[in-house]
Amino acid sequence: MTAAPLTNLSRLCIHTITTKPWNIEEAAEKYSAAGVKGITVWRDTLSGRDIRKTGDLLRRNGLSVVSLCRGGFFPHHEHSGRKAAIDDNRRAIEEAFLLGTNLIVMVCGADPVQSLDDSRQQIYDGIMAILPDAEAAGVKLAIEPLHPMFADTRSAINTIAQANELAEKINSPFVGVAVDVYHLWWDPHLQEGIKRCGEQNNLLAFHVCDWKSPTIDLLNDRGLMGEGCIPLKKIRSWVEATGFGGFIEVEIFSNIYWREDQDEFLEKITAAYLKNV
Ligand code: ZN
Repeated sequence: MTAAPLTNLSRLCIHTITTKPWNIEEAAEKYSAAGVKGITVWRDTLSGRDIRKTGDLLRRNGLSVVSLCRGGFFPHHEHSGRKAAIDDNRRAIEEAFLLGTNLIVMVCGADPVQSLDDSRQQIYDGIMAILPDAEAAGVKLAIEPLHPMFADTRSAINTIAQANELAEKINSPFVGVAVDVYHLWWDPHLQEGIKRCGEQNNLLAFHVCDWKSPTIDLLNDRGLMGEGCIPLKKIRSWVEATGFGGFIEVEIFSNIYWREDQDEFLEKITAAYLKNV
């Protein structure tokens, strides 16, 4: 099974971190000129800005503000650390509200000095603590499972099954799952996990890039779509079989691409999106 070809850019969203050398104003102008229709905003790009006005600027450029990245990082072996995380997530909800997006991506966190089970309990507790704020602001929270190579410090939620279970345990229309191919492509149970996510109305976001072989940096060597070994069209077909018709978000952390001319990189992104996703 494969997905129907993407024939235009109407569902293309780019994460600001993908073109990290650009500030948010440049990114808005360049994405818009290239025909991109969505933007996911990383919080660092909002530093020193009037967030409400920045949201207006993005929309004036014809961009839907798909989500804010990122909340989460709840686990900490000390109470003070967990409290600081909850406070920071409340700020993220406020920022999302001001920006005018209804979704925050959650990188859930982990603390290597405690067990993964303890970290998972603290993730649950953290999301429950901020859920009333999210509901009041009309902002949904997307749990993004991360590749197990990040289970030490970045996320104790590493498979779509774990993300589904957590979302279903919380059982709120304001909590769902973000499917990122970079983190999940290897999982033999991915198709059934995506299906279950859709059946529970929990599929909130779809992130794409590619897995380069070899990968020379665990964090910042993601590939452009088509450059690696992820079966992108197959995974998109599974996502769309659930009824998902939302944005397809290009999220690439790459020391290599960040050193390139970003205008040329953006051209490569739109071409790779149409050809390889
Ligand atoms: Zn992602």
